[in-house]
Amino acid sequence: MRVRFLPAILMLLAAGCAMAGGTPAAPRFEYAYEVPASADLQEIHRRVRDADLLRRLPEIQAIDGMFSLSRTLRYVASECGEFGAFYRPATTEVVLCYETLRTLYERGAQYRDPLGMTVAEPLRYVRANVRFMLLHETGHALVHLLDLPVTGRQEDAVDQLAAILMLRFARLNQTPDEVIGDLRMAAHSMLMRSTGAYQLDAYADEHALGEQRYFNLQCLIYGTDPQEFAGMVEAGDLTAARAATCPAETRRVGRAWVRLLLPHLAPGHEDYREEAMRYLREAGSADSGAVE
Ligand SMILES: [Zn+2]
Repeated sequence: MRVRFLPAILMLLAAGCAMAGGTPAAPRFEYAYEVPASADLQEIHRRVRDADLLRRLPEIQAIDGMFSLSRTLRYVASECGEFGAFYRPATTEVVLCYETLRTLYERGAQYRDPLGMTVAEPLRYVRANVRFMLLHETGHALVHLLDLPVTGRQEDAVDQLAAILMLRFARLNQTPDEVIGDLRMAAHSMLMRSTGAYQLDAYADEHALGEQRYFNLQCLIYGTDPQEFAGMVEAGDLTAARAATCPAETRRVGRAWVRLLLPHLAPGHEDYREEAMRYLREAGSADSGAVE
């Protein structure tokens, strides 16, 4: 994901031209549903296209137009030949593979909430996972398009952003319990990909192990409200030792992402700027514990 020197200069010039009129560019996202070649993906394609799935995901809707991006970000549903989603920097596209939807539906049909409180509908499982995956890829896109600094593994950083966006924006049309349930489903999907028996290539991978991504996500959920989610520790979803650090970890991650994104807010989002400044003040004053 290297931005070569000359294109970077051209991007800056383009941004400068757009700002010359007094209004910085904040291009809206674009959405496309490519027709798959495989006969067995036609039905999924039709359903996703007719539902306009990509455009209707609440967090994507919420951030569409929010940042002064130098190029248009496209969300594309496509046949890939495998399970997954990815960000393509050359064309600034977030791609969701049709095959992913089919696999997620099968997993969702077998899913049981870890606390045994609810039995999820497969479609809710699909939606929750698609949201998390696309927000993860959106994180890669923002890092690329806004040239955000990332120290440590970018895969971990964009997992954090996906969780933060779901915790902040899903609440526009969901209860907190529903958001947490959705994030649990996304965490569950990470475990499903794990075998538990790893070779060296898994340890060397740019992604953390599925189990670690699972617990990192659980930690961010718990860290938002340790009292409300005390049951997670009792149920073994999170160890007590890790749980103790999660409130501070959640604030640190939240503050980092807010500070990275705040300078790129497009005009017309002053209410978010005020909310962000308030959050930075409150979360910043809460941390005084030692770190190991
Ligand atoms: Zn990634």
